[in-house]
Amino acid sequence: MSQVKQTKLTGVRGMNDLLPQEAPLWAHLEQSIQSLVRSYGYQQIRTPIVEQTALFKRGIGEVTDIVEKEMYSFEDGLNGEQLTLRPEGTAAAVRAVIEHNLLYEGPKRLWYTGPMFRHERPQRGRYRQFHQLGIEALGFAGPDIDAEIILMCQRLWDDLGLTGIQLELNSLGQASERAAHREALIAHFKKHESDLDEDAKRRLLTNPLRILDSKNPAMQSIVESAPQILNFLGEESLKHFEGVQRLLKANNLPFKINPRLVRGLDYYNLTVFEWVTTQLGSQGTVAGGGRYDPLIEQMGGKPAPACGWAMGMERVIELMKEQGLDADLESGCDVYVLHQAGETLEPAFIVAERLRSAGIEVILHCSPDGLASSFKSMMKKADASGAAYAIIIGPDELAAGQAQLKDLRRDGQQMSVALDGLVDEVINQLVKTSD
Ligand code: ATP
Ligand code: MG
Repeated sequence: MSQVKQTKLTGVRGMNDLLPQEAPLWAHLEQSIQSLVRSYGYQQIRTPIVEQTALFKRGIGEVTDIVEKEMYSFEDGLNGEQLTLRPEGTAAAVRAVIEHNLLYEGPKRLWYTGPMFRHERPQRGRYRQFHQLGIEALGFAGPDIDAEIILMCQRLWDDLGLTGIQLELNSLGQASERAAHREALIAHFKKHESDLDEDAKRRLLTNPLRILDSKNPAMQSIVESAPQILNFLGEESLKHFEGVQRLLKANNLPFKINPRLVRGLDYYNLTVFEWVTTQLGSQGTVAGGGRYDPLIEQMGGKPAPACGWAMGMERVIELMKEQGLDADLESGCDVYVLHQAGETLEPAFIVAERLRSAGIEVILHCSPDGLASSFKSMMKKADASGAAYAIIIGPDELAAGQAQLKDLRRDGQQMSVALDGLVDEVINQLVKTSD
């Protein structure tokens, strides 16, 4: 044997295993998402996890946090292509829509979920592989679709039973309005240049709007006194913003206007929004999005308006746990089938398959060594499985053409049932106990 001590193999830092214990919570969130998107008529799009690096540079913007420092980029060792693990979903969705000419048939309402990758400092609510639900409504210009996608978020929180997530809204206007605001911002920050932190000094030259996003407490007074974009909006932009607000109010959705809300990506215009909570520590933004009308053209498509949002699924899961919404999800299977190996294995196997054909969820006992297990240890396993019933097929039962059916959750009652009538009896009992 080699004397060299093997290093322990572990997962990549910031990339999490999702263990079986947590899976029901994820499945519950995924099911809620499925029913949400169906109820609004959104269609799923699935794009690859790896894309050309150039896609994200162009689609997200060179001077964003993501492109500047968070992307997992590499060269394809076989053909030298520059590739990147997707850090978000919008750029790829828009690429696919352009590439397959999907807007030819008219506007599209799309959604996706999946893992995203960003090289960030791992901490609670911030990982290097995380999952997003993304919504993209492409080809619609009016404020009605902005309101629709915002209401979708609220419906998801309601469906999940989540509370305490506030909507913050802002409008970034159009490019010319932002340009005037940008001038005023630069003048303001230059006046206070000696008080700016390093990040802000760098952004003053590249993307001064992002200084408004600064989380540095020492910067807060300079940021708070900065000129606000809302004061630079023209009539059209204001009308759009008011249209969104009117529809939200009509649907009783409370919101707060946050004039400092700018979002991390370059491509936004008009409406921007975030859903924030105070219950997740410093990573309290659960979802964010807005309008990005210039993006499709910028990426080489025929000009078409667009808006959307992305939600961090880990943060939603964390919030569900925080609010105790994970308690009732741990449901087990319906039936655990016990047998004594040997001659009882085959009939037990057949019973289990027959039950499954009838739509019943079954765990068939399987001992680690392939030999018969003690009755006591099998009952322990049956209990731990969460099954509502145990079916016991021993040699004596088999000789009599019967099985024992035992209620595991309520009164512990046990009865003999003929093998022939077993499926019917299990269905009978399950229907009774579900009342
Ligand atoms: P932040 O300011 O927290 O970095 P962001 O502006 O980079 O967020 P978006 O690109 O808008 O985030 O992504 C949408 C959502 O995805 C966020 O609101 C958040 O819930 C989630 N998210 C973003 N980055 C991460 C991450 N590294 N780990 C877990 N969730 C994330
Ligand atoms: Mg970020």
